[in-house]
Amino acid sequence: MTETAPVADPLTDEAVRHLQGLLQIDTSNPPGNETAAADYLAGILHAAGYDPAVLAAVPGRGNVVARYPGTGELPPFLLYGHVDVVPADEASWNRGPFSGEIADGCVWGRGALDMKSMVAQELMVMLLLQRNGVRLRRDVIFAATADEEVGGDVGIGFLVDEHPDLVRAEYALSEGGGTTMYIGGKEFYDIRTAEKGTYRFALRTAGTPAHAAIPRPDTAVERAARAATALATTPLPFRTTATAAAFFRETTRALGLPEGERVLSEKNLERVMGRLPADLQHFLHAITHDTAVPTGLRAGRKINVIPGEAEVLVDGRYLPGQTPEGFVEEVRAVVGTGAVLEPIDVTRPLEDPPGGLLYETIVDVMRRHAPRATLLPTMLAGATDAKHVGRLGTTCLGFGPLRVPPGFPSDSLVHGHNERVPIEGYIWGINVLYDIVTRFCS
Ligand SMILES: [Zn+2]
Repeated sequence: MTETAPVADPLTDEAVRHLQGLLQIDTSNPPGNETAAADYLAGILHAAGYDPAVLAAVPGRGNVVARYPGTGELPPFLLYGHVDVVPADEASWNRGPFSGEIADGCVWGRGALDMKSMVAQELMVMLLLQRNGVRLRRDVIFAATADEEVGGDVGIGFLVDEHPDLVRAEYALSEGGGTTMYIGGKEFYDIRTAEKGTYRFALRTAGTPAHAAIPRPDTAVERAARAATALATTPLPFRTTATAAAFFRETTRALGLPEGERVLSEKNLERVMGRLPADLQHFLHAITHDTAVPTGLRAGRKINVIPGEAEVLVDGRYLPGQTPEGFVEEVRAVVGTGAVLEPIDVTRPLEDPPGGLLYETIVDVMRRHAPRATLLPTMLAGATDAKHVGRLGTTCLGFGPLRVPPGFPSDSLVHGHNERVPIEGYIWGINVLYDIVTRFCS
């Protein structure tokens, strides 16, 4: 990596200014207030000759959509991202979280990584398409939306439900990959080809209520505690997917593990685990198993009363290829049938196995922009707005191109203190994204 150049050329200057403008708008969610950001983006798009629409499900929670028309020979392509951010604890920051200040070669602010930088990159791509008068066979749709950090229902979810024709696309690109990773001294970029589904549920147990002075066995509290302990200590069955297998193969190769151990199987996973960094171990477990983690316990209000009911709240995540019913069966095998299982929030998993059209375009473009890097598919253990976009049948990949130097703590800055983005890598990413979009859509 070269030292970050000072802001000099007009494109860099413009791109940094737009990012700073976005970061200076406080879109902490809750409450969001994304209309200010949507209006800001709409103003820039409008000045460039676009006809953007700002749409809101509830006042103050605006979403902006714009379209660069292609010839219509191929279905549209969607570039989308969220402008809301998680709250920032200002006292713990070295620069103001809504300052957009430039220091140490970075632009600082809540959202600098997640994900106002990618939204600004997407905006720049739209401006460059218009400026260069590029002829494309697909429309390119830009959508910057609200509410992702708490589920996206009034953001892209609202657009998908209420204005599907504005955002309907064959392929879409957004967050969830694209930042430089260094494994075993080698450089990698991940493309998010899959994400797990969510299955949050409550387990309710019942028992005979009684006075605690005269104990009796098998109370509701005991049953809930047993279920929680069983879930916390029993892994659900191993399952493999095309994405996890490719991720495993590439990372174990980079770490110099023997050929025979690079094929993802339960046995190989067990065999190599001890030799991997702890973070990678936890991640590999998450992308090869459905998980059900007890996160809440509720029972009783009076200390001398044995309550008749108790409840365990469980955050469940299930893999692509698994069904909600199959996941519930796995959970039942662990906790038995004594508790009532009540779903709270269920979303679908997604996977577009590595090797698809958009995936290969990204790999191709990256060959030129990062010739020494290896591209690898990855799965998000959490969920993004792709769960909404996917409902329209759109193939959603995650790749927000961002080059960072070795040791740059991207992972801990996302949702952490002192979030910032290296200017040089951010600008590099605009060129990468522009090449992906023009290549894919022409
Ligand atoms: Zn995000």
